[in-house]
This record gives sequence, structure tokens and C-alpha cells, in this order.
Amino acid sequence: MSLEVPASQQVRCAVHPEQPAGATCTRCGTFLCADCATSVPGLGVRLYCQACAARPDVNYLEALRQRYWGKRDEWAWLVAGVTLLLCVGVAAALAQWGLRATRQSLFALVLLVPVPVGVAFFLGQRWARHALVPTPLVMAVAADALERDGRFLFFLCAIPGLLIALRIHRDVRNQLFFRLPVSSGALKLLWELRFNNPLARQAVHFGFGAVFMPLLSPIAVICGVVALTRVDLKATPPIGRRGQAITGIVLGLVSPAVWGFFLVPMLDRWLSSMVYK
Ligand SMILES: [Zn+2]
Ligand SMILES: [Zn+2]
Repeated sequence: MSLEVPASQQVRCAVHPEQPAGATCTRCGTFLCADCATSVPGLGVRLYCQACAARPDVNYLEALRQRYWGKRDEWAWLVAGVTLLLCVGVAAALAQWGLRATRQSLFALVLLVPVPVGVAFFLGQRWARHALVPTPLVMAVAADALERDGRFLFFLCAIPGLLIALRIHRDVRNQLFFRLPVSSGALKLLWELRFNNPLARQAVHFGFGAVFMPLLSPIAVICGVVALTRVDLKATPPIGRRGQAITGIVLGLVSPAVWGFFLVPMLDRWLSSMVYK
């Protein structure tokens, strides 16, 4: 007996009837040939027809890119806020002391060094993204040129600014504001952080909080239980963090038990030994 199916009875691609179908679309079930089968970043081995693969609920990483494309993030607003504060501070200093050609009054002008960078950053000029990184060092060098005695302090102050600027430079969400190409792997990390069952992360935070403050236990347990019901690895996009949800529940349950059975009697004994001494 032969297992060969006559060509007329073979399953055919819905778009290319001349091609045999090798798969079906995960979402709509359409038969797909090798040309039509489309994989979507972040969804592993699942295959889709081209229409389904273009949907924002399926290609959720592309949808995320479009959602944040050119939109200001928290860093853009923070940079704008700091820039505004510096302008207000310098204006107030000049109003108070006036601008004389003394070193001390020129010192206020060092604070204006980041202003053009900050403005350009807020307006989404790409050069400002790079210029932000050396700005704290440029300020420290300028301050050092005016006031030799404070060298150590100036460079010490520049370090946190430098670290924050580097952090901003690497931030994927911020790169989307500047309309820079971002890999689907980086988008996946961003999605994981913001949209993959965030309640489960909260459950872990409250769970660890409950170790020190048992009052947080019910919140940890509730967050954990709700997050656990949301876990659905077959959904599109998949909702995970089962482990974190369970960790939150366990910590939320164990903490009051530990406090109740061990710590409270211990505290009680210690207090009574203090009182009746
Ligand atoms: Zn489909
Ligand atoms: Zn096809």
C-alpha cells in the first residue's frame, strides 16, 4: 500500500493554489505554503499567514515600536526639567549678583553649558543623545578652569551625571523616541519589563516587603494570585512570570507565619525580661 496522496487531493496554500501547504496559520488556521509561512519575532516557532503576522496583536513587538516611535519618554522630560531648572537658577543668580568679569560670577555660566544640549535632546535631535554623555565632564573641566581649588569636588559631582547620561544613552525606550533602529531582541526586553504580567513583579516586591512589614502580606498574596490567573503562555503575546507570581504568594504567606510563630514570642520574651528585671 502506498502512502502517496494524489496531487489533486493534497492540501494547497490558500494564496498559491499551485503550491502544496506545509503548515497552518496559528491564528486563523489558513493553509500556508513555504513562501506564505511567516514567523513573528518574539513568538518562537509559531507560523502565521501574512495578514495575521501584520496584525498589532500578533506582531506585538512591532506594535510596541510604533507606539513609542518619536514619542518623548520619561528621560526626555527629565532632561527638559533639569535644563529649565538650570536656566532658572542662573537667571536668579545673575539677578542677585549681576554679571561682572569676576571668576565667581562667571561660575554661574558653567551651569548654562548643558542648556543647548538639553533643549536639542528634548526636541529629538540625535546629536544631543551623544552630546549628553560628555556634558557633565565638560562642566567639570570648565568649573576647574575657573576655580582650581575645587577640582576633586567638580569631578566627583560629574560622576553621577555621567552615569545617568550613559544609562539614558543605552535606554531602548529613549532610542525609540530618537527614531533609532532597535533590534527585536531589545524590544522584547522592553516589552518584558513593561507589559509581561507586571502584577507578578509587584507581587515579588510586596512579598519581599512583607518579610519586613507583615502588613504587606495580603497585598503580596492578592497580587500574586491575580498575576497567576493571568499567566497564559499560549496567548499572543505570551503572558509569563508564573515563578514571580508564586514567589509573591509564598513570601506573603510565610512572612506572617514566621512573625507569628517565632519573632513575636521572642520579642515578647525579650520585652518581659526587660520589664521584670
Ligand atoms: Zn492567519
Ligand atoms: Zn502561499
